[in-house]
Amino acid sequence: LDRELTDADFNVKQKSTFDMYVNSLPNLSIFHDHSCLTPTPLKPSDDANILPLNSTGNELVPSAKYDFKFKDYAPWVFRHLRNAFRLDPADYLMSLTGKYILSELGSPGKSGSFFYFSRDYKYIIKTIHHAEHKFLRKILREYYKHVTENPNTLLSQFYGLHRVKMPYGKKIHFVVMNNLFPPHRDVHTTFDLKGSTIGRDYREEDLAKNPRATLKDLNWLRRKQNLELGMQKKKLFLEQLQRDVALLKKLHIMDYSLLVGIHDLSRGNDENLRGKTLQVFNPGGEKSPEDDLQASLLRTPSKLENYRKAKELRQMVQKERPVPMGQANDQMPDEAAEDRRGLLFNQDDGGFRATHEDNEPAEEIYYLGVIDCLTHYGMIKKIEHFWKGLSNDKSKISALPPDQYGDRFYHFIQGNTMSAEEAKRERARRDQE
Ligand code: ATP
Ligand code: CA
Ligand code: CA
Repeated sequence: LDRELTDADFNVKQKSTFDMYVNSLPNLSIFHDHSCLTPTPLKPSDDANILPLNSTGNELVPSAKYDFKFKDYAPWVFRHLRNAFRLDPADYLMSLTGKYILSELGSPGKSGSFFYFSRDYKYIIKTIHHAEHKFLRKILREYYKHVTENPNTLLSQFYGLHRVKMPYGKKIHFVVMNNLFPPHRDVHTTFDLKGSTIGRDYREEDLAKNPRATLKDLNWLRRKQNLELGMQKKKLFLEQLQRDVALLKKLHIMDYSLLVGIHDLSRGNDENLRGKTLQVFNPGGEKSPEDDLQASLLRTPSKLENYRKAKELRQMVQKERPVPMGQANDQMPDEAAEDRRGLLFNQDDGGFRATHEDNEPAEEIYYLGVIDCLTHYGMIKKIEHFWKGLSNDKSKISALPPDQYGDRFYHFIQGNTMSAEEAKRERARRDQE
């Protein structure tokens, strides 16, 4: 890392060592487009209990052995980036390779991307379109410059850009990036905010079925939600956001959003819920529909359990890196928060704690970042803008030219960032008018 990056570093593509790890696995959940493959049955082995999990927390059955060929893009640049984002190199490799990858994060969105967690929940792998891949390579130098000048950037932290070639020739591109949400804290409410209102609504009726759904701009407005930051933190947050949006505008990027995860300290973790559930199920207790819901929660392994399991496994193979003495299992959560300590927006338990007007801490921790920032305002978006613009108010639709998109985005967030006290005054002022 002492070496200065050269022009060539930004253009390198090279064979990756990932193949080695991946092909030692009997089964890989990451690219499970199995339809074209003939699986080779495997003998059950001692490793059977540490296979990747699918989205419902079930272990995937060992079924096939594949030959994946990986490629790394600009590996030195990403090494420098990981360093800027304060990742431990050995930890990074362990999280992404060996037997601990990857649990799947639901089904693909509109864009067709697939998402995967590393087993310890620190990283997200997102498959990206070839155009996004080419675009990231094109802007890598600017992105790198921005990160070195803004180590606290809110933009997605890209840690690696790779391609995997399937045995039958299909090529899949993916990025490795930060999971904005912590492994050790429950995120009670999630918002994906663009500052656009058309179609930006999640049916609140469906929340009962899917309590962890990602809510959108209209839900945010309806709930009169604010990012409750007192004067000090508000300034830090908005200044960084402004610099980040300036870069996105300059690079003609759009369609990104601010992802906001809210941990409510008064509600705590579902670990607490588990405790309560066990009490509820004491003999003689009355059973309600909520109990059934809680019972089903008990059947799915929690993020924390997964995290612990991954950690245990890691320690098993990392005997040469002994765990510090006296570090009990239940101290892991603190350690998880320590990873990114020093970065501004991860300073409070891995996130950014809400504050009152006088900068005293409030009851919520925010996990924040600007995501999905690889959409170039190219031909497709221009066409979408034209067609949607025929039927809707042009300023409200999502596909806007990058300058307008960025301004609308920033103003929306800015207008919704204020402490509870400030919000109250603001409401009173509006009522008077
Ligand atoms: P589309 O283009 O249709 O918006 P996409 O496939 O490009 O979708 P994203 O917008 O990047 O997907 O992400 C979809 C959802 O995945 C987000 O709303 C968020 O809930 C989750 N997500 C994405 N990136 C992260 C991240 N870094 N950390 C945590 N959650 C994430
Ligand atoms: Ca998106
Ligand atoms: Ca997208």
